[in-house]
Amino acid sequence: MSSFNDGSHLRGELRLNEERFRLLVESVADYAIYMLDVAGMISSWNTGAERLKGYTEEEVIGRHFSIFYPPERLRGGAPQKELETAMREGRFEEEAWRVRKDGSRFWAHVILTAIRDEDGNLLGFGKVTRDFTERHRTEQALRESEERFRLMVANVQDYAIFMIDPEGRVATWNVGAERAKGYRAEEIIGQHISRFFPPEDLVWDKPGRELRIARESGRTEDEGWRVRKDGSRFWASVVITALRDETGRLKGFSKVTRDITARKRAEEERGRLLAELKDAVRAREEFLSIAGHELKTPITSLQLYVQRLLRSVEPPGILEATEAREKLRAIERQAHRLTRLIYSLLDVSRINAGRLELDFQKVDLAAVVRDVCDRFEEESIQAGCQLICELPEGLVGRWDPTRLDQVITNLVANGIKYGAGKPVRLSVTRDEDRVHVTVSDQGIGIREEDLARVFGRFERLVSARNYGGFGLGLWISRQIIEAHRGAIDVQSAPGQGSTFVVSLPLER
Ligand code: ADP
Repeated sequence: MSSFNDGSHLRGELRLNEERFRLLVESVADYAIYMLDVAGMISSWNTGAERLKGYTEEEVIGRHFSIFYPPERLRGGAPQKELETAMREGRFEEEAWRVRKDGSRFWAHVILTAIRDEDGNLLGFGKVTRDFTERHRTEQALRESEERFRLMVANVQDYAIFMIDPEGRVATWNVGAERAKGYRAEEIIGQHISRFFPPEDLVWDKPGRELRIARESGRTEDEGWRVRKDGSRFWASVVITALRDETGRLKGFSKVTRDITARKRAEEERGRLLAELKDAVRAREEFLSIAGHELKTPITSLQLYVQRLLRSVEPPGILEATEAREKLRAIERQAHRLTRLIYSLLDVSRINAGRLELDFQKVDLAAVVRDVCDRFEEESIQAGCQLICELPEGLVGRWDPTRLDQVITNLVANGIKYGAGKPVRLSVTRDEDRVHVTVSDQGIGIREEDLARVFGRFERLVSARNYGGFGLGLWISRQIIEAHRGAIDVQSAPGQGSTFVVSLPLER
């Protein structure tokens, strides 16, 4: 084979390759790839360029490439500067806005390359452009959302939110941090967080400990004293969270601190008041108990003396004796009232101390109620009201007879006291497993809004007339009945009277 033939074959091969390469470039659709001559005139065009910029080959060949630039870039002479950079440095690269034929813009990634022959003469420029609009938009959105987030954190007032680098130095600062701790950003960024801690916490390296726990377990919470710039202290609630990148490397920590001094003070105050209240209550109960016992002795002997005196002036013969007897009876009545009151106070103190002890016995309830009725005979006549008792026989159960007597006595006394001189009715009934003692009057009644209160301690309902009393009877009654696992209830209407019902379980 001759050398001539060899050469022509090689040239043929080369041309074929060039042709293939031209076809390849022309058909690439995702990149605009085209050539400029030394003056910047467009000398070749590919499918990608047509797709990207909207011009056909015929429209664009021979025109200056500045047609792709937005006006504001043209004013600055960008096309020419870029060519010069490429000539000087071999290439030029940028990301910037470009304009399509229809005037719309796209975000382009551009590489401009100077093309020279073997002797270094400039032949023109190759230009590769890619549409990065979508990516640009995502990046922009990300940047904006980061910026918004940064601004939000920066402006939060009520929480100190800041970042700490892995060594424990402050890296960012927000308004809330400045407000809580008193430092401005430029004073504190780069400083170690230990300056927020009081000296007693530094002795055992509390800041270091907190960071270590956050590093090891992801986060840590704490409440404790922290120190402001001016040295004053505040009670802080703190959360530290470790921040790691995708590979798990520690980038630092976020720290959210809240000044909860006011809350802590309020809690302490509440605790203190509660303790004081408990002391006061205890002192009152003690006083009640001591006073009750101390009053019992003199009143008992007072009653004895009165009774002895009453007996000594009997039988009545002379006027003086009759007068003296009436006065003595008056003294006896008052002494009796006083005794009842003292016993009520002692009951209250006993119940408060949880020392209400019941003496359960086999009891005939009708007998207990009859006793009470008999005792009230005289008093009801004096009050001008009739006491009607309807009692069946043989309602036997296990209850504390003395305490039941006390409850029924109280209900009947109230019925007479608040009964407006009308009849008071007492009845005992039973159903399957309960007995009911009903005491019913037709007196002043109780307003609906007061019904819930009558069983309260020291609850006296105010009425036009003062009936006296301490407001203890019904409260004590309820305690006694509930200790029997029974219930006491009332139904009433003003002006129409009241009905109190005591229910007791039959079996025990
Ligand atoms: P008090 O010693 O004041 O009578 P109680 O605990 O027995 O104390 O009664 C509490 C309050 O309930 C009374 O002050 C009275 O206002 C009201 N009350 C009790 N029983 C009756 C009743 N039968 N009719 C009207 N009001 C009553």
